[in-house]
Amino acid sequence: MSWVYDFENGSKEMKSLLGGKGANLAEMSSIGLPVPQGFTVTTEVNFKYFENGNKLPEEVVKEIDLAVKRLEEKSGQRFQDSENPLLVSVRSGAAISMPGMMDTVLNLGINQEVAECIGKRTDNYPFAYDNYRRFIQMYSDVVLEIPKIKFDRILEEALMMNGAATFKHLERAKMLAIIKEFLEIVQMETGEPFPTNARDQLLKAVEAVFRSWNNERAILYRKHQGISDSLGTAVNVQRMVFGNYDGTSGTGVLFSRDPSNGNDKLFGEFLFNAQGEDVVAGIRTPMPIGSLKDEHPSLYSEIRKLAKDLEKHYKDVQDIEFTIERGNIYLLQTRTGKRTAKAAIKIAMDFVKEGVIDEKTALLRISPQSVSTLLHPDFSDLAKAEATILAKGLSASPGAATGKIYFSAQDIVDAKARGEDCILVRKETSPEDLAGMIDAKGILTSRGGMTSHAAVVARSMGKTCVAGCADIVVDEENKVIKTPAFEIKEGEYISIDGTEGLVFLGKLEFSKAKTSDELETLLKWSKKYSKTKVRANADTPIDAKTAIGFDADGIGLCRTEHMFFEKDRILAVREMILAEDLEERKAALAKIKPYQMDDFYNILKTMGERPITVRLLDPPLHEFLPRTEKDAEDLANHTGKSISVIKSLSEKLHEFNPMLGHRGCRLAMTYPEIYEMQTEALIGAACKLKKEEIKTNVEIMIPLVGFDKELADMRKLVEETAARIMSKEGVEFDYKIGTMIEIPRACVVADKIAAHADFFSFGTNDLTQMTLGFSRDDVNSFMNEYLKSDVFQVNPFVSLDKEGVGPMVKLAVDKAKSTGKPIKLGVCGEHGGDAESIQFFLEAGLEYVSCSPYRIPTAKIASAQYHIRKEL
Ligand code: ADP
Ligand code: MG
Ligand code: MG
Repeated sequence: MSWVYDFENGSKEMKSLLGGKGANLAEMSSIGLPVPQGFTVTTEVNFKYFENGNKLPEEVVKEIDLAVKRLEEKSGQRFQDSENPLLVSVRSGAAISMPGMMDTVLNLGINQEVAECIGKRTDNYPFAYDNYRRFIQMYSDVVLEIPKIKFDRILEEALMMNGAATFKHLERAKMLAIIKEFLEIVQMETGEPFPTNARDQLLKAVEAVFRSWNNERAILYRKHQGISDSLGTAVNVQRMVFGNYDGTSGTGVLFSRDPSNGNDKLFGEFLFNAQGEDVVAGIRTPMPIGSLKDEHPSLYSEIRKLAKDLEKHYKDVQDIEFTIERGNIYLLQTRTGKRTAKAAIKIAMDFVKEGVIDEKTALLRISPQSVSTLLHPDFSDLAKAEATILAKGLSASPGAATGKIYFSAQDIVDAKARGEDCILVRKETSPEDLAGMIDAKGILTSRGGMTSHAAVVARSMGKTCVAGCADIVVDEENKVIKTPAFEIKEGEYISIDGTEGLVFLGKLEFSKAKTSDELETLLKWSKKYSKTKVRANADTPIDAKTAIGFDADGIGLCRTEHMFFEKDRILAVREMILAEDLEERKAALAKIKPYQMDDFYNILKTMGERPITVRLLDPPLHEFLPRTEKDAEDLANHTGKSISVIKSLSEKLHEFNPMLGHRGCRLAMTYPEIYEMQTEALIGAACKLKKEEIKTNVEIMIPLVGFDKELADMRKLVEETAARIMSKEGVEFDYKIGTMIEIPRACVVADKIAAHADFFSFGTNDLTQMTLGFSRDDVNSFMNEYLKSDVFQVNPFVSLDKEGVGPMVKLAVDKAKSTGKPIKLGVCGEHGGDAESIQFFLEAGLEYVSCSPYRIPTAKIASAQYHIRKEL
């Protein structure tokens, strides 16, 4: 068992043993890049050190001694040599990068004599003393745990008194005096002289780095990032190269491409005549790496070439630390560069163009959620960084919008007519707000969840929406919104970011327009590698066209209730609901039918041969009832009933818990004529199209089934009605009948239900609601608390609760499959557009997912990733 590896003997695959830094230093050396020699004490030693009572075990010390010997031979330098002394850095580095969390000591091996020797050898005393004083400071901080400030204060004061920019600008005597003072501090703080023996310094520093694995900030960082405490850090010991040597030396950090936008340009900072952390310490202002290009073109092009070589070798953007000693460049660290979502997409696609990676690899590197940034406007990074955040709500519909706030649909319509950009602000929206939602640039609500009216409608329109923003009080009456710190009145500007769910004060700048070419390429690739169909949830021909624009494979959920809300028919719908007997109801339904047939005709025509799942009426009837006095009056005029009759009929429909009330197929179990009318309209529309020689692919979906008898009855009703219409029209075609699986009981008896179904579509919104017993419309009042107290890590209405709801889905799939009957399986809940949930659904055996049109690209990439990973 080896505890120590020379850089020559490691590779990038050995991260868990050598840490990320060590593994990459080894990799870089072995491919011939300029890396100062050194060795790595493995992560395994970290725990041996703890077990051994925070002391390095003898066997490890022996190996370190041997490694130092080898390093001395290779470098031609020796610890405390009077001719050519060796100085090293001692650097931490875990398998997963934890930037700045653990400790590093530079210039180790130095003492007064060695410093004098270096000064003489280089004829550069300021440089020699600079190394020494830096070493005392770092060693004292890391190993002796003496507060940094004690040294900083002395140094700062001396610089100020002498009007010097840096330590090296001081007179020799002053430098030596400072060093003397530093040494006295150590003597006072520890009661012992500062260690002068290089070997002692090294062993103590190695131990301190191992100890730093468990310092407070490292522990906190790991907890926050979900990094395991059991990884441990490695310790890298490396020959020093000196960026603080002179004006032809320096140190810097760089990204091989711009991490904010992905542009193929070096991005980073550099300081001449500096060492280590000077660049990030903020004492001196570093220069952008690009400025080297003009002043030191050959240096720049050499750095660029190294960055490119690294990129090619690692096949990804690199985050690099380097030092230049008298014109010679040395690489001191490389790792995968972190980047914004936007940059990630551009970089992955550019790499494919450059032949660095293939399409599959590129797809795997793209966060499915991030493709929404290609679709929607976004605020510029700078604007976001500088803006005041008013509140955070749900990222209900992605994009960005800025405008004056108004509190009613009518005010929005008027403002738009005046040419204003505006944002509709409501506690929650209702179908009556539609005109305002259409004219607004964005929508903000203080209540309602991811499936609230505002969220669903906004997504279908591709309009930015922040919903359920409980942090703000919406005072619709006084036309003002309030947060603890601000009040924003009607007509004043806010900006909302629906991608992140943020609300900003004032007007934010947008970033440049997106290239949709990139999106098209991505969709093409995902189609190539995915076996999963991605359908859209689309209720109108406009939605359907949007869906086809994203190459949707069909419609997985066409809700028919939206069709009931349109101005011209809501009266007939209300008449139907308040009907006092069958005859009255049938008369009202007859009025709705032509509208409905027209709707179906148009959407079926748009979709053609692509499958379309039409869900028959689902919501509780009271949702359609008159809301205002004026509505009631209109209805009274329309029906000839008195207002008081209308009110008492409405009251009779009141339900205490409408989500569990008279809705879904229960409506048609009691009023079969409703589904009968809808079937007549749908089959009638398809007949008409057939006569026009346009093919259709209709799937009729019965919602909220919990008992097989419900579906059996509904199937009979639909089949009989369809047969009647077809024979009347003299036309025949195939269609399917299936159900939504959204009640836990339906999952449990899915085999029995399957007997009457051609397809199952999981309605995971209701399934989540009923399995968790969380009302999806009320859950926001405690959602944030639940997230904070870690009851769950993500909102279960956003990402499927795999532990609680997942098994329900699995159970139903297994039961359905156990019948041996071919049955199509899909999902149409909001989770159908969530990448994490999609992985689960495909794993469970679903064949398609369906989501809002604008989430199709996300769903396509997520499913392609599933299939690519499966093949790996
Ligand atoms: P961190 O993990 O906090 O970045 P590092 O171990 O990378 O810590 O060290 C920080 C910096 O110290 C490096 O970026 C580099 O500038 C400097 N450094 C480390 N080792 C050496 C060395 N052998 N020669 C010169 N500079 C070094
Ligand atoms: Mg580093
Ligand atoms: Mg439902």
